Formats: sequence, structure tokens, C-alpha cells
Amino acid sequence: MPLRHTRGFKSAQHLSDHFKAHGLRLGLGTEKEYGEFADAFLRGSCPQGAQKFRRLWKDDLVPYDESSNVFAVLDAKGFIKTCYLPDPLRTLDDDELGLFPCGEGEGMGYQCPVCGFLEMPYPPEDYNICPCCGTEFGYHDFSRTHSSLRRIWIDAGCRWFSSAMQLPAGWNPFLQLLKAGLAEIRLHVSADAQAMGVGPATLIRTASENVGTIAA
Ligand SMILES: [Zn+2]
Repeated sequence: MPLRHTRGFKSAQHLSDHFKAHGLRLGLGTEKEYGEFADAFLRGSCPQGAQKFRRLWKDDLVPYDESSNVFAVLDAKGFIKTCYLPDPLRTLDDDELGLFPCGEGEGMGYQCPVCGFLEMPYPPEDYNICPCCGTEFGYHDFSRTHSSLRRIWIDAGCRWFSSAMQLPAGWNPFLQLLKAGLAEIRLHVSADAQAMGVGPATLIRTASENVGTIAA
């Protein structure tokens, strides 16, 4: 049962049982409210300062918000495993849970190996589609390499694919490719430009103005 940001719980029984176990303590009255709360916490409303972890052995995503004490687990396929308020008597032990913190700036999404988009809601496998470049993993990359799919996407104008996921504010496909190390800037200074005193520094400045903001 897909929800807004995740695939929801795996089955009606998963949702029902987890609601019964944790819904009341979270102050939620129905299974629907519980499912939507977990969904929003995992992707939408998870506070900025919340700690995010990945579980080494299963690749679960595990955000924990200390201020509200909410803990949730999303599996690698994009299904919600659980969402609860940890028992106050039990301290969350990172080692015990097999968790390690996500890197700085690392979001809750998966990176697309074709276009470098960082917020794929599901891993790039198993017929999941990158909302950015539209690559369907297992289908498009069955007979083509990721770099040839990237070339095709770039040649077609780096268009945003998804209608369901909105284009992120300030999205810039070229910066995305550069940051992901999937593209590089090549400068070719023509003899005429050189004669006019236009060197690579001027061209880089012009290029960065054209693509918007490049961090200095
Ligand atoms: Zn992509």
C-alpha cells in the first residue's frame, strides 16, 4: 500500500500489528494515521536535526529524532518496517542495533548512478525508476551501461522525468552531475578568444554564472 513518500507497510497485517503495538504511545488513533505518520516521518517531516543511520547488514534507513524521541525504520526496498517511541528505560545503543551514522549532508534517499540524483526514494535496482533521469533499473540498464544511459539523458537535454515527484527547488542537472563526479568541465579556448585575452578563468566565471551557484 504505497503512501506519499514510501511504499507503506509491507502488508495490511504489518500495518495493523505495528499500529497495535505502537500507535497509542504515539497518540495516534487509527491505522491510517499511524501509517501516514510513519511515512511523513521517514521522508517528509523528519526534522532537520534528527540523527540518521544506516544498518550495515541490511541497508535499512533509520532516522531517530531525539527531540520527539521518534524512531522509525525503512527497509532497502522502501517499505516501512516500524515506527515507535523507544521505551524510556532502554537506551538506543548504536552498536547493538548495528547502525552507523549517515554522512554529513547525506539524505534519506539513494543516489542514481546514471544522473547522480541523491534523493531516489528507492534503491537503483529491482525496476525502480529514477525520478530525475527516468532510468528503470533492471530494464534500461539491462543492455546499456550507466555511462551510455547518462550520455543519452544529457544529449536529450537533461530533462526531469517524474510527474509524481516534483522537481526540487533550484535543481541544476549540471551541478548534480559535477557533484556526483559523473561529469567534468572541459574548456576549449579558441585561438580567437586567446587573441582577445579571454582565458580559462573568464570562461569558468561565465560558465558558473550560467549554471547558477557554484560554491567557491
Ligand atoms: Zn537518475
